[in-house]
Amino acid sequence: MGSSVKKGVGKPTLYKTAMKRKNVMLDLETIETLKALGGGNLSEGIRKAAEQSVHWTLPMCSVCGESVARKSGMCEDCEMLARQSQ
Ligand SMILES: [Zn+2]
Repeated sequence: MGSSVKKGVGKPTLYKTAMKRKNVMLDLETIETLKALGGGNLSEGIRKAAEQSVHWTLPMCSVCGESVARKSGMCEDCEMLARQSQ
């Protein structure tokens, strides 16, 4: 038999950080929800859920809604624009 096995065909590296394999305990409903979120891929769904929860937790800029608010309640760009228009 030929041993010419094709490896890594058409799978671009999307993530710069190394992935770690973890065993997780999930109920069926959570698995289905996360799978749907990840387009059929459970790991992708978990990453997306984590990403979204970070965005939800962070305060948002009162002008553009970006999740990088500072003391002023605005992001750096909007704060600068507000200062210029004064
Ligand atoms: Zn902003």
